[in-house]
Amino acid sequence: MGEHEIKPVRVVVLGGGTAGWMSAAGIAALLPGLATVDLVESEDIGIVGVGEATLPHIRGYVERLGIDEAAFMKATHATYKLGIDFRDFGSIGTSYIHPFGSFGESVAGLGFHHYWLELARQGLAGPIGDYSLAVAAAQANRFTPPLHDSSLASTYGYAYQFDATLFGPFMRDHGVKLGVTRHEGLVTAVERDVENGNVTALLLSDGRRLDGDLFIDCSGFRSLLLGQELEEDWEDWSQWLPCDRAAVMPCSHKKGMPLKPYTTASAMPAGWRWEIPLQHRMGNGYVFSSRFLDEDAACAEIEANACGEPLADPRILRFRTGRRRRSWSHNVIGVGLSSGFLEPLESTSIYLAQMAITYLIELFPTDGGIDARDRDEFNRLVDMEYDRVRDFLILHYHATTRDDSEFWNHVRTMKVPDSLAAKMDLWRRTGRVEKYADGLFYDASWIAVYLGQGWVPETHDSRAAIPPPEQIKRALDRLREAITQQVLAMPDHRQFLESEAARLAEAA
Ligand SMILES: Cc1cc2nc3c(=O)[nH]c(=O)nc-3n(C[C@H](O)[C@H](O)[C@H](O)COP(=O)(O)OP(=O)(O)OC[C@H]3O[C@@H](n4cnc5c(N)ncnc54)[C@H](O)[C@@H]3O)c2cc1C
Repeated sequence: MGEHEIKPVRVVVLGGGTAGWMSAAGIAALLPGLATVDLVESEDIGIVGVGEATLPHIRGYVERLGIDEAAFMKATHATYKLGIDFRDFGSIGTSYIHPFGSFGESVAGLGFHHYWLELARQGLAGPIGDYSLAVAAAQANRFTPPLHDSSLASTYGYAYQFDATLFGPFMRDHGVKLGVTRHEGLVTAVERDVENGNVTALLLSDGRRLDGDLFIDCSGFRSLLLGQELEEDWEDWSQWLPCDRAAVMPCSHKKGMPLKPYTTASAMPAGWRWEIPLQHRMGNGYVFSSRFLDEDAACAEIEANACGEPLADPRILRFRTGRRRRSWSHNVIGVGLSSGFLEPLESTSIYLAQMAITYLIELFPTDGGIDARDRDEFNRLVDMEYDRVRDFLILHYHATTRDDSEFWNHVRTMKVPDSLAAKMDLWRRTGRVEKYADGLFYDASWIAVYLGQGWVPETHDSRAAIPPPEQIKRALDRLREAITQQVLAMPDHRQFLESEAARLAEAA
């Protein structure tokens, strides 16, 4: 080996679920020559197999890995997602869409929603959703990808809703093509360096061993390396997010129903229920708190509320909400469920795995030696991501007037984290959203939930009152009309999917 030749870091990924294959394929694609990647997974254990809705960030991952979007959509029976329709959260009978897109645009540096609040105060504005192209397109069940310019057609993003049981295998094929070596087997023991405690090898039940320099723990809720072997502490967040179970039951599509380009989240007496349209079926599940509802009752509820013909019996998934105190400890990095879990209300889990992979690639120990400062920075970034998502999720429960069940009474009256209390206070007093450059979620998301759940601030920026109200109204009316015209020009969601599939078939 020449003097300047780099010795690739031997990366071993434990687990072949969404997190495992996203990690393995990501490292293989983005660190060519700098790492070798081995992945071990066990068919006997299988994968969690849910996780159908995503955030727009996943498109960046798909693109960076050179995956053809249409081929990916076909293989995973995916649909497009423009946001989430929240029903009955603020109070029973209300609903709003949290869109992947903006509401209007800033004028003279002042956020659109301040002008909207000024006009709404005078009874002159329509619902805030009228000024979002993503909301209007979702409501009309239409979809076309946004443009990359500065026009109205560029003011939204989109994500995917896919069959989680097909996503892993798709990523596996891609990962193997990129050079990942796959091992089928059960890891039963872990070898450690007696001096520094680093993991040195995974031992399989049939006697095989996998040596490595860096181990990515993607073993799901088991958290075999980070939790069980390294005993990394668990930070429990169930006092704020009490849901700890899901009753899951896939359904057929209801005949004659349009294919919605969005997820529906309907609040229930002890949690909420998701409906996720895929090409071939509906994803369907009731996320609930076992403190307020037992498992049999949740299964009965999900059957009673089936969004189509049931395709399987309901099954219960149990989870804990929280995260490991450190996601990177020694030479082990937890990605996915092994490092933490925040319930799927805003479809953030795959995003959190993707961000962990992104940060790991940025801080990758290319010379094999781990610098504690890089590890600390990774943990800081991952913590920041979790904290921000946590606060946003809690808001959906806390900002409610519902008093119809013990569950809603609890979440409405509980003490929230100080970081969220400060954000809510800022909004309530001034109509402003706390600014940050990294992590989820940005202004439009917070505005959607605050206003959608009936939290109108006491005041807003007084600069919004400078232009005469008729002038603001004319601008808002023009925007609403432009949105209506833009939506009318979009194809129906199902038609768009069909035309993409036909294009793919022609190209093959
Ligand atoms: C109810 C529910 C709904 C969800 N909805 C969403 C959603 O809408 N959007 C979203 O982004 N996320 C969602 N998630 C989260 C999402 O499912 C996960 O983030 C994602 O699937 C990643 O899981 P994973 O790869 O970490 O774990 P798993 O899928 O559990 O994979 C674990 C892997 O480790 C392997 N393994 C474990 N132990 C061993 C061993 N001893 N030897 C060998 N192999 C082993 C298993 O075989 C498997 O391959 C949801 C989760 C739940 C519970």
